[in-house]
Amino acid sequence: MTSGFRAIPPVNRILEEDAIVQLIEAHSRDAVLDLIRQNLEEIRAAVSEGADPPDLPSLVFEIEHQASKRWRAWPERVINATGVILHTNLGRAPLSDDSIQAMHRAASGYSDLEMDLETGKRGSRQSHMSQLMSQVTGAEAAMVVNNNASAIMLALATFAVGKEVVVSRGEAVEIGGGFRIPDVLRQSGATLVEVGTTNRTYARDFDAAITENTGAILSVHASNFKVIGFTNAPTLEELVEVGHRRGVPVLHDLGSGCLLDTVPYGLAPEPMPQQSVSAGVELGFFSGDKLLGGPQAGIIIGKKEAVARVSSHPLARAVRIDKMSMAALAATVLHYIRDEATSKIPIWRMISATEEELRRKSESWASFAQNGVSVASRSAIGGGSLPGETLPTWVTRIPSLQPGEAEKMAQRLRDNNPPIVARIEDDAVILDPRTVLPGDESDLREALNNIAQPNAAS
Ligand SMILES: *Cc1c(COP(=O)(O)O)cnc(C)c1O
Repeated sequence: MTSGFRAIPPVNRILEEDAIVQLIEAHSRDAVLDLIRQNLEEIRAAVSEGADPPDLPSLVFEIEHQASKRWRAWPERVINATGVILHTNLGRAPLSDDSIQAMHRAASGYSDLEMDLETGKRGSRQSHMSQLMSQVTGAEAAMVVNNNASAIMLALATFAVGKEVVVSRGEAVEIGGGFRIPDVLRQSGATLVEVGTTNRTYARDFDAAITENTGAILSVHASNFKVIGFTNAPTLEELVEVGHRRGVPVLHDLGSGCLLDTVPYGLAPEPMPQQSVSAGVELGFFSGDKLLGGPQAGIIIGKKEAVARVSSHPLARAVRIDKMSMAALAATVLHYIRDEATSKIPIWRMISATEEELRRKSESWASFAQNGVSVASRSAIGGGSLPGETLPTWVTRIPSLQPGEAEKMAQRLRDNNPPIVARIEDDAVILDPRTVLPGDESDLREALNNIAQPNAAS
């Protein structure tokens, strides 16, 4: 055992290696030393269990590998060929060129984020955005926070702390990532009052549940699941009628902020902020990075007085949106104002891509991969929007010649620079052109040429 320990390369010797000298130049001596020590510690532990220590070249190689992984520019650009438009693991919505420029502008210098340039006095980062959001949704006022989850927390903390919040039993749901409406209510200091049944709830159920201690009625869009069959849910208008009559504000979590009608694209209707406003809700909330197609953000729209109350709550500061997201969001909203959303916002370009252009691309890609064929398939919206809704598409399908080959091919595609994320179906790699951005196509074709061959060396 002692001999094993003696064979472990000493730190001084490792530091003399050319590759390590270069690592120190690129990063720092302390950072590299740390990494070497961590590796040596692990090796000592392994040796004490009876393993052989690595020789110097393999240890240096391993350290180089770890350094390049740990200290790479992150997050890395990835080509999304899954066909899932709002892929939460891949960062949801890619931004428009204008939004990217706006972010760059906000990040690279000073800006009038909180200054009124006419008076030279302090302004609010919310007032410009409130105007833009009100224009596209018809709301009296708006405010933007970190994400939709924080918008909900903030509104509940403002309207319902120490009070009861009435929610339909079918909507007391988990939205994803462990974000559960009942828990959020509890955390905001409110008490959940569930009404109706899982499948059927009526306006009169809400009416009957209201007491002098009711702080709000909360309506949550079931964005990641569907209840079908014998169902009923009151309309927003009916809820607002109950709320008005009983003096209780109606809060509406729309989930995705879909400003465009999804029906012309062959999709189910998605609640629109404009409809929420015209139904007369006190406040509505939605995400910036779902069907709005912008950066991560939580948008709160509604009655002027209600938005003012939410803005002045102490929690508002804790969930404040940063200037880069604000800049990107403003640019995204301008696309809607200019009526150019479907041509400028990437996710809307993806949703509105025609089968003809998708087929052409999938055929062209198929010609770069051995055994590749173009077949009809479906793309998903994803990101907790429009559950189960898909769009007809054409994909490049690369079948396995031996069982399990597709996994290996998908792995090689992920190892590519830039990494390509594909789908696997029936032991075949599936590449959907719908979610591949125009600027990514040549990289993808090259990768297919090099690695998407069923018998390429891995
Ligand atoms: C996605 C979603 C949320 C959470 O939104 P984030 O912006 O991700 O915080 C909340 N409610 C509903 C209904 C959702 O679909």
